[in-house]
Amino acid sequence: MQSDMQRALSILKSVFGYDAFRQGQAEVLDAVFAGNNVMAVMPTGSGKSLLYQLPALVRPGLTIVVSPLIALMRDQVQALREYKIAAGALNSANEYAENLRVEEAIRAGKLRLVYVAPERLVREDTLALLREAKANLLAIDEAHCVSQWGHDFRPEYLALGEIARALGDIQTLAVTATADEPTRREISRKLFARAPQIFVQSFDRPNLRLAMTAKKNSARQIADALDAHKGSNGIIYCSSRKRCEKFAEALCDLGHDALPYHAGLLPQTRSANQDRFLREDGIVICATIAFGMGIDKPDVRFVFHADLPQSIEAYYQEIGRAGRDGLPADTLLLYGAGDVGLRKRQISESDAPQERKRAEYNRLETLVALCETARCRRVALLAAFGEAAQPCGNCDNCQRKVRVIDGVVEAQKVMSAVLRTAGRFFAGHIADILTGKKTELVEKFEHDRLPTFGVGRDRSVEEWRTIFRQISALGLITQDMGDDGRWIVTDEGRRVLKGEAPVELRADEPVARGERAARKEELKRAMNARDADKDVLAALKALRLELARAQGVAAYMIFADRSLVDMATRQPRTREELARIHGVGEVKLEKYADVFLAVLNGRAPEG
Ligand code: ADP
Ligand code: ZN
Repeated sequence: MQSDMQRALSILKSVFGYDAFRQGQAEVLDAVFAGNNVMAVMPTGSGKSLLYQLPALVRPGLTIVVSPLIALMRDQVQALREYKIAAGALNSANEYAENLRVEEAIRAGKLRLVYVAPERLVREDTLALLREAKANLLAIDEAHCVSQWGHDFRPEYLALGEIARALGDIQTLAVTATADEPTRREISRKLFARAPQIFVQSFDRPNLRLAMTAKKNSARQIADALDAHKGSNGIIYCSSRKRCEKFAEALCDLGHDALPYHAGLLPQTRSANQDRFLREDGIVICATIAFGMGIDKPDVRFVFHADLPQSIEAYYQEIGRAGRDGLPADTLLLYGAGDVGLRKRQISESDAPQERKRAEYNRLETLVALCETARCRRVALLAAFGEAAQPCGNCDNCQRKVRVIDGVVEAQKVMSAVLRTAGRFFAGHIADILTGKKTELVEKFEHDRLPTFGVGRDRSVEEWRTIFRQISALGLITQDMGDDGRWIVTDEGRRVLKGEAPVELRADEPVARGERAARKEELKRAMNARDADKDVLAALKALRLELARAQGVAAYMIFADRSLVDMATRQPRTREELARIHGVGEVKLEKYADVFLAVLNGRAPEG
């Protein structure tokens, strides 16, 4: 007899068309099959859905999936039905008749997976139904929603532990992509009737290219970066509604299919824009942070930040929406002194207690340090999550070999200006002093009389601002939050002032044209898996879109990008060859072999 694990692997192949488990999946499945309660913390795109979908298919009985967003449930149910898997959802957005049909299917023992909104799950009638149906696995998606400290807190999640008990200590599997140590403890305390076995996977997402650059002309910088991505899906995060609108408009003028998304839009416009992004190819969405959770579109090819994100955690979560399918994806973050100042003001003006404000300042500093570092971005990013890593070769700093210069004299100049102005002034004013500018503020405080006035005329104001941020990121100066954020020179800074310690600064060079062209080539090569025939790929995409429209499902639910690229590269001519393509399982082969083979054999698909 086959073990559960062997059957899971064979379903992975026959139904989903995948050759092997991704890193981490097998261990978690093993624990689930052993009957344990399990908590899995794995990065976005690692394939967490299969951790409950495969057990639901391998074992008899019903699997309950709890998910915070109705849109997310709808998409997963649709995608499962594309594989001819009996799945349904119970929630308030369904038509009454649909909920009845799903309940009926549960009673008849016909459903393998039921997705339930948490507020529905607490209802006595729902619980009775599920008990009667002998549901045997409770899967909780986005489990961090139970954390009261997080941004995604859902009060209804607090009842889930109780519900597990009410369902007879049902086996529980909680999955999430975001959980630091305290959140993990909270999840494990609140969601489980029995203590879980915990799996935590590396947060690294090697297929995401990381890049950050100082903000100069954000509209131009974003447009340039988009150049390499014509026709792909992506997200541009902006700090305000107005900027979303402005970017969407400017990008449309440049010939992109760009749409805004923010809380100020009419609900129907907002959901129409989101739907187009989910369902079509080549849509660029210009969004505030209101956009994101519940977007499990696998083929988002880039995430750009036109403005500084809220924190390093938010940054990680936002870029994480790119490249879930494991193919290369691009990120770019633009940061400017104005953004940093704005965030600082927001923190200082919030009602949070002093302790929390201090923590927020620290998080902001980590983010600024990440922007300013001359070393590998990935090493710095993962370090912020307590993970050690080696230089990645897939970030701007690794690839560009940032030129570093001896910056002792520059650092000394900045620190001496900071000391002589009692730390009361920010980067911009310090830069004015060093470059010898007689601004209103300079004259008001008679800073033109300082010995440091004009000692940095050899550099521009912008350069001095960058140097200021770098020495802050290096920890030579820091803000005293107990004293209105006054800048102070740290012990390390004093050693530099005395000439006892070295300082390396990055020499900021504009991205050369040649470099940009090379990047474009590299992306193209990666995306097209080297030799994919472009015309064939375009024809396959057109067919996919047509089928998706006709069936009212998202394009990726027919076949993922990766499958089409694989087809355009290997050009299968027969059903047997097509079955060997990534993501082509039995059901999809049955459904789509004829039309796709027609295109691959150079014929117009019939019908
Ligand atoms: P997560 O929830 O962890 O972000 P998903 O479950 O949405 O990730 O999976 C991301 C994508 O990866 C989906 O398109 C999924 O079908 C695909 N995937 C999952 N497991 C595998 C695997 N073993 N091999 C290939 N693709 C996989
Ligand atoms: Zn790197």
